[in-house]
Amino acid sequence: MRRILVSAIVLALAGVSSTLVVHADPQPTAIAGQTTTQLPRNVRPIEYFVTITPDAANLRFHGDVSIVLDVLQPTKAITLNAIDMDFLKVELQPGGTRVYPVGGKPKVQLDAEAQTATFMFEQTIAPGSYRLVMEYTGKIGTQANGLFAIDYDTRAGKKRALYTQFENSDARRFIPCWDEPAYKALFDLTVFVPDSQMAISNMPVVQREKMDGGLARVRFAQSPKMSTYLLFFGLGDFDRATTKLGNTEIGVVTQKGSSSQAAFALDSARDILREYNDYFGTPYPLPKLDNIASPGSSQFFSAMENWGAIYTFEYSLLLDPAISTQADKQRVFDDAAHEMAHQWFGDLVTMSWWDDLWLNEGFASWMQGRTTEKLHPEWNSALSAVNVRERAMSRDAIVTTHPVVQHIETVEQANQAFDSITYSKGESVIRMLEGYVGADAWRAGVRRYIKAHAHSNTVSDDLWREVEAAAGKPIMQIAHEFTLQPGVPLIRVASATCSNGTTTLKLEQGEFTKDRPDKTPLSWHVPVIAQVVGNSQTARTLVTDGRATFDVPGCGVVVVNAGQSGYYRTLYSPQQFAVLKSDFAKLAPIDQLGVMNDVWALGMAGLQPASDYLDLAQATPADADPQIWGDIAASFDALNSYYDGDSARQSALRAFAIARLTPVFERIGWLAKKGEPDPVKNLRNELIDTLSALDDPKVIAEARRRHAAQSSDPSAVPAALRKTILRVVARHADAATWDQLHAAALAEKTPLIKDDLYEYLSTTEDATLAQRALDLSLTDEPGATNSSAMIANVSDLHPELAFDFAVAHKAQVDAKVDSTSRSRYYPGLAGQSHDPAMIAKVKAFAEAYIAVGSRRAADTAVSNITYRIMIRNERLPAIDAWLKHNMR
Ligand SMILES: [Zn+2]
Repeated sequence: MRRILVSAIVLALAGVSSTLVVHADPQPTAIAGQTTTQLPRNVRPIEYFVTITPDAANLRFHGDVSIVLDVLQPTKAITLNAIDMDFLKVELQPGGTRVYPVGGKPKVQLDAEAQTATFMFEQTIAPGSYRLVMEYTGKIGTQANGLFAIDYDTRAGKKRALYTQFENSDARRFIPCWDEPAYKALFDLTVFVPDSQMAISNMPVVQREKMDGGLARVRFAQSPKMSTYLLFFGLGDFDRATTKLGNTEIGVVTQKGSSSQAAFALDSARDILREYNDYFGTPYPLPKLDNIASPGSSQFFSAMENWGAIYTFEYSLLLDPAISTQADKQRVFDDAAHEMAHQWFGDLVTMSWWDDLWLNEGFASWMQGRTTEKLHPEWNSALSAVNVRERAMSRDAIVTTHPVVQHIETVEQANQAFDSITYSKGESVIRMLEGYVGADAWRAGVRRYIKAHAHSNTVSDDLWREVEAAAGKPIMQIAHEFTLQPGVPLIRVASATCSNGTTTLKLEQGEFTKDRPDKTPLSWHVPVIAQVVGNSQTARTLVTDGRATFDVPGCGVVVVNAGQSGYYRTLYSPQQFAVLKSDFAKLAPIDQLGVMNDVWALGMAGLQPASDYLDLAQATPADADPQIWGDIAASFDALNSYYDGDSARQSALRAFAIARLTPVFERIGWLAKKGEPDPVKNLRNELIDTLSALDDPKVIAEARRRHAAQSSDPSAVPAALRKTILRVVARHADAATWDQLHAAALAEKTPLIKDDLYEYLSTTEDATLAQRALDLSLTDEPGATNSSAMIANVSDLHPELAFDFAVAHKAQVDAKVDSTSRSRYYPGLAGQSHDPAMIAKVKAFAEAYIAVGSRRAADTAVSNITYRIMIRNERLPAIDAWLKHNMR
């Protein structure tokens, strides 16, 4: 699944502090044991024969299922997962070739809390093979859980399509089943659907017959053995565009008439499949691979890796020539690369239980980054790995962090595990370990792992073992330290001395934390790569027992973590930093970005002056890598938001930031130049957004001028700028402009554009208009999946308003949020606040509505608010002083 993670910009606000104490710590070790299960282990499903008849108009469906299963121990009861279902019939029949005495018709006991159904039999059922036959009805939802409906506008009127979303634990809304990843089984799906519509599942259609009443009976081929959360069914007025790679048919399924927007996704899927067939060493095992585009959105994911039938929201799959940007194009590729990596890592080989979710998500995220870099070098995406690591380290440095591998007990906890630790830290740790053993050894280990565990389940150590075997080098201890214990190592450069053309580096390891300055540091073996700027050779060491001394070829400015593959922060002494700063322009772009992120975080933590970051921004040449300027813009945006409500001090920051960014923006201009590099296209939009947030009058005026001129001059708003210009206009809208945007949203017939317009309506600086957006979000007008996004958007600039509103209308808002994600959604609305009163409000909300074991998101929101208050009080004075000194 491609989770929507809080942006690095927001997380840049999450700070740090640290202590440096060298000490010995007990080594973390993996806990071997049985796979967690919430179900009795006396029965194992082998094959599901499922027949579904949806009644889309009434949001209900009818199901018939016959499960071939093995009873493993004598029992009088069978328990499986089921929720929101009514059972019409349950029967246990003899299965297989042998006939066993059968329990007959059981008593049905439903447990809504545990999400189970238990069938109690009068006689004891002997071990053997049976068929559990059930007839039931279920519900079709309006949010992405279970089987759900998406309503959308077209020029031909309103349409309704059906899709499924089962990860992590919602297959049980569709089929009564053993809904845990370790219970892999075969699936045979048959559906009765309107004859005019297209039905899609994991496997190709093997039979389609017309029935009475305008229906068709559609039977799909038997799936391979797989986990329940990977099953998919979609139904609607669709088109399907296809291409082939070898024997695999690749398809993109869209709403009717949108196939042409899928061309890039289709070509990308073919390129990625070719790459993955080679990388994994095991060819893609299914006959077809579809990617299904759905209108609408979810607050929590953009795409899902159902085996052979990836599900992706339109905004992450289709490119509309009227509005799509370079960033949209890159996201389409990224999401496809991520979900397709899951076809192996997740679908073919699956984690045994949610404790090891990162095996799916960390790996798919890493594979996506690596593949984008390889297949689209013109995007220069190597630098984005630094932003991924930053997202992880920001989150990993606060008290509510957790190890990459963590124990999961409940459905809600599993849902909360889809976070930046699982994704971004997982990815960053893999990047570090790949760097440590070498790319070829790492790939050989991955190939061995896939081969050894195809069609079964694993834990993290299964991967480490295969990589060790392939690399001939131990990694288990490093891997355990970075995945079984939380936190971010801090490497302090204790000394760097030069003699005879060699620099001797002394390093000390501590721990970087933002909210526990007195914490005793944990201990890690840290692989470190260092380089003298301008020298082509690097040197490597492994920090052990808290320290390392080693030689680096050359003399001059030393960069620790050269190439930025290490998961740690680097703290230089003031003297070392002064030298680094003076030669900053000579660093490789990826090291410039890494150093800037460390300096920002360490400065906000109080380990070096907070204003050091501004020195680096000052030292960055206007022609530096566009992604460096993107990062500087994001940091200015973060500082700007810290000054919120203090306009006198804020305007000093704004004057500096605008003066720094304007020459960069003027170099690239409003309009794309022929042949300009792709990262420049992204930077153009980022700078316009940031200058708008800084209230730059020139940029706001020009955006308004272009927006107003487009009715007479369509070239005033080129497609690549359309969304950006709308964002500027919406952010600074007055009531008349807001009404005009609202009218445009109402009239729009293309879901992709309509959804954006509702999003922009909720991004205004004006609190009265933000309130109007909140009120609008609870009406039927924006569409069922846009409301939660609108409220979340309001929370970016008006967190107190959005949080209070959502809590006051909780029953209505609950209906607009995926049910398992509510424990994250509400606290998330408050996280951008710096109002001390919000801390008590979030705590009260958690006590009232969130289970004790599921309050990590609420605790994290409280940590973020506390942190923002600390930054305002303790760090901004240094920024003020620097601005005063440098802006004279
Ligand atoms: Zn994923």
